[in-house]
Amino acid sequence: MSDVVIVGGGPVGAAAALALARAGHGVTVLEARPTATADDRRTLAIAYGSQQILAGLGAWPAESTPITDIHVSQRGHFGQTVLTAAEAGVPALGYVLRYNALVQAQARAMEDQPAISLVTGATVDAVTPGEDGAEVVWRQQGDTLRRRTPLAVLADGGRALTAATFGTPVERPYTQVALVGQVHTDRPHDGRAYERFTPTGPVALLPYERHYALVWTGTQEAVEALIALPEAEFLRRLQDWFGDRAGEFLRVTARSWFPLTLKVVREVARPHVLCIGNAAQTMHPVAGQGFNLGLRDAAALGTVARGRLPGTLGDAAMLADYLARRRRDRQVGIGITHALVSGFSNDWPLLPLLRGQALTAMNLWPWSRRALARLMMYGMASS
Ligand SMILES: Cc1cc2nc3c(=O)[nH]c(=O)nc-3n(C[C@H](O)[C@H](O)[C@H](O)COP(=O)(O)OP(=O)(O)OC[C@H]3O[C@@H](n4cnc5c(N)ncnc54)[C@H](O)[C@@H]3O)c2cc1C
Repeated sequence: MSDVVIVGGGPVGAAAALALARAGHGVTVLEARPTATADDRRTLAIAYGSQQILAGLGAWPAESTPITDIHVSQRGHFGQTVLTAAEAGVPALGYVLRYNALVQAQARAMEDQPAISLVTGATVDAVTPGEDGAEVVWRQQGDTLRRRTPLAVLADGGRALTAATFGTPVERPYTQVALVGQVHTDRPHDGRAYERFTPTGPVALLPYERHYALVWTGTQEAVEALIALPEAEFLRRLQDWFGDRAGEFLRVTARSWFPLTLKVVREVARPHVLCIGNAAQTMHPVAGQGFNLGLRDAAALGTVARGRLPGTLGDAAMLADYLARRRRDRQVGIGITHALVSGFSNDWPLLPLLRGQALTAMNLWPWSRRALARLMMYGMASS
C-alpha cells in the first residue's frame, strides 16, 4: 500500500502528484475524465509565485500571457490605483493561460515522471479514512476496484465525494454568477489587466494572447440575458458598464457562465486523508486566487512529505505539520476574497466613499501597493 492515491487529476491534483513524486514518493492519480486532456473554456490568472511553483515542477505551459500591471477602479465613484510588476520587482505580476493548456502541460510532466501513474476513466466512489491507512474505491471500465493507501488526497474540485468524506462544507452561494468570454478591442492590451468593481459585482479583463479574457459577474438572470443579446448590443452594454479605459470593444466570442459559491471544508484532514484545492475551498474568482491557493496546498503537501518513510505518510504528525503550514494562508485567502465580494459589490451608504478613499490612499502610498502585490503573488504561504 505504498503509493499515495490522489483523487482528481485537475490542476491541483496534478501539481500535488508532481510535488509528491519530487519528494520521493510513488503516486497513483485517479481521474474521472476519459482522457488526460480537459474540455474547459476558462482562462486562469496565475500569480507570479504560482508560476514559479509550476515551473519548478516542470509543468509550465509554453503559451501564456504576462500581466505587467493591474488597474483597479470602481464604477461611478472616485478612486483608482495601478499595481505594476516593475514596482513589485518581478518580470510579471502573473500570467493568463487556458485551464486546458495547464492540464495538458501537467499531464506531460506526469508522463515523464516514472513515480506517477495517471489512471483516466477512473471515477472514485468512496474514500474511507482509517487509523492505519485509507481505503479508496473506484469504478473503471465497468469494474469496481479498491486500494488501501497510507495517504489519500482528495482533489476532486469539491464535488459530492468531498461532502461524503468530510461532511457538508460551509456553503454561501453568492447572488452572482460569472459570465466568461473573450473580447477584442481596438488597442493592444500591453499586458494590462483591469479589475472594476460595480454595484452588481466585479468585472475583470485579463490580457490573453491578442485580446482579453472577460469575467463579468451579475445575477444569473442578468447574465443569461447578456449572453442571449446580439453581439453589437452586448458590446454596447459592456462599454457602458466598463468605460473606455481599455479602448473600444469590437468583438466578443465564446460567451458562457459559471455559478459562483463560497464552499469551505473546515477540517481538511481525517486519519490518512487530506483534501486540497477546490475540494478544500471553492472561492469567488474576483481576486483570481482559487487556483493559486490550491496550488500552495499542493506545494505544502510536497514539502511535508519530503524525507518521510512510506510508513509514516499520512500519519498524525505529518497531517499536523500540513495543517499548521496552511492555516494562515487559507484563512487570509478566503477572508480577503469574501470581503472583496461583499464590500465591493454594493452601493450601501458610505461604502463607495470608503472604497474610494482606500483606492486613493493606495495610489499615494507605493508601500501599500507593493504589499498588496506581494499578497496576491505569494499569499501568506510558508511552505
Ligand atoms: C469562471 C472562473 C474563473 C476562474 N478564474 C480563476 C483565476 O483567474 N485564477 C485562479 O487562481 N482561479 C480561478 N478560478 C478557480 C479555479 O478554476 C479553481 O480553483 C481550480 O480549477 C481548482 O482546481 P482543482 O484541481 O482543485 O479542481 P478542478 O479544476 O475542479 O479539478 C478536479 C478534477 O477532479 C476530477 N474528479 C472529480 N470528481 C472525481 C471523482 N469522483 N473521481 C475521479 N476524479 C474526479 C475532475 O474530473 C477534475 O479533473 C476560476 C473559476 C471559475 C469558475
